[in-house]
Amino acid sequence: MNDSECIFCKIAAGEIPATKILDENQVIAFMDIGPIIKGHVLVIPRDHYPDIISVPPDVLSALIVSARRVAAAQVKALNADGVNIIQNNGRSAGQLVPHFHIHVIPRFNDDGYHFNWNPGKYSSPEEMEKTAASIRSAL
Ligand code: 5GP
Ligand code: ZN
Repeated sequence: MNDSECIFCKIAAGEIPATKILDENQVIAFMDIGPIIKGHVLVIPRDHYPDIISVPPDVLSALIVSARRVAAAQVKALNADGVNIIQNNGRSAGQLVPHFHIHVIPRFNDDGYHFNWNPGKYSSPEEMEKTAASIRSAL
């Protein structure tokens, strides 16, 4: 199940080069060409799924286990002090490549990088409860 227009499908098929870290049955991991921090790795399914909602549970399990392996290797080999696991779905969420991928980013105490994470707030406890009820009803 591959998309002939998809850059990550082409990497998975070996049609365009990538610096691979893992090459498994369902999962591939390779170096991100534009690292947030050097050592930034992308973990992707071999098959084309656009986002987390479309990835079958068994493939998703394999992906997160591989991401954990990569994170442990970054800590061991690069002496990372921490690791960010980030996964974007949809353009509004900052997803540029519409083939599911998990970012595994090694972090260092002195790397100087800061995510633009500004906490907001609900106008009332009722607003939060109403939003929660809506999500709950769709689970
Ligand atoms: P997104 O914004 O979709 O979550 O992240 C896409 C990521 O893919 C970016 O971090 C970008 O640097 C990386 N990327 C895009 N094109 C290529 C490519 O051709 N090769 C590699 N190795 N990484 C890519
Ligand atoms: Zn693809």
